Amino acid sequence: MLVDSFGRSITYLRISLTDRCNLRCLYCMPPQGIIWKPVEEILSYSEITKIVAASAQLGIRRVRLTGGEPLVRRDLPELVHSIASISGIEEVSLTTNGVLLERLAKPLAEAGLKRVNISLDTLDANKFKQITRGGDIEYVWRGIAAAEEANLFPIKINTVVVRGLNSDELLTLACLTLDHNWHIRFIELMPIGEQQDWGPGFPLPSHRYFSVKEIHQALASLVLKPTESPEGNGPSRTYQIPRARGTVGFISPLGEHFCASCNRLRLTADGKLRSCLFSEAEVDIKASIRRGESVEGQLLKALATKPKGHGIINPSDNLIYPADPTLARSMSQIGG
Ligand code: SAM
Ligand code: SF4
Repeated sequence: MLVDSFGRSITYLRISLTDRCNLRCLYCMPPQGIIWKPVEEILSYSEITKIVAASAQLGIRRVRLTGGEPLVRRDLPELVHSIASISGIEEVSLTTNGVLLERLAKPLAEAGLKRVNISLDTLDANKFKQITRGGDIEYVWRGIAAAEEANLFPIKINTVVVRGLNSDELLTLACLTLDHNWHIRFIELMPIGEQQDWGPGFPLPSHRYFSVKEIHQALASLVLKPTESPEGNGPSRTYQIPRARGTVGFISPLGEHFCASCNRLRLTADGKLRSCLFSEAEVDIKASIRRGESVEGQLLKALATKPKGHGIINPSDNLIYPADPTLARSMSQIGG
């Protein structure tokens, strides 16, 4: 079994299927875009399936597909079916921006996908366009409806909170859970990739971070009762508005409990294992698989690099947002 040097059992593999995306979210990609990796550098479905099979032998039980945007990868239901059929894999889930979900929710569910997390930071169509640099929120609404239709429950909505961008909408977003069986999770902005100036009208890098403590304050008018997270143990602290159909979660990647209960390994689209989102340490599992070697050793090697914590200081409210220039990959390239 995969147990790291700090006694954490690793049961969850997060796989980035592509570094490509059909949106350009401000906090995820630089404005000039990213030079996509050539196709031959990206893991094939058969390579991914081999890695998951080896991981399952070592104790991985849950797999999440992410990106970039995983739905832009062709024939995704085929991969979902292959992974869901691997002995030991109990759940395959997906994180998506939802834009292409309307057409894909049903075939993905039929292939064995259990649930989806959909990213949505605002309810305002213009602001959505601004944040995603051109996206159309209508596609996301249709994607959410299709996910419900396909029974991809629980449906979680991931909202990255950015001061001065969507920090005024938190109450409205939380109140969506009154009538919808959705689980809104407010996520602190993370210092990944370049933290450049987004241009006129946007908050400066030093002002963007909005802590979970502040999110709680913004929701102070709601009576939030602690409750179970819909997926059991996860990074979110979960609450419910009395009689609401859904829940409201808080994810503080910069907070301590996040690392202490971390149960995950990551696989980048170009075949590198990463044991921590914030660590540059990578193990080249693609090279091993292409040399025909066994990959178990690489999984164990990646496990050995798993740090106790990410070492990023939890900034007190409103302090300078701690961008780390050594983190060269953008979030879309690691697989958030
Ligand atoms: N494209 C898919 C999506 O947007 O859901 C999957 C990949 S995206 C990198 C995964 C998640 O990372 C999204 O929920 C996104 O909002 C989040 N994310 C991206 N950059 C982030 C940042 N700097 N801080 C916090 N979350 C971030
Ligand atoms: Fe694309 Fe997701 Fe990054 Fe937005 S957050 S640019 S949708 S990968």
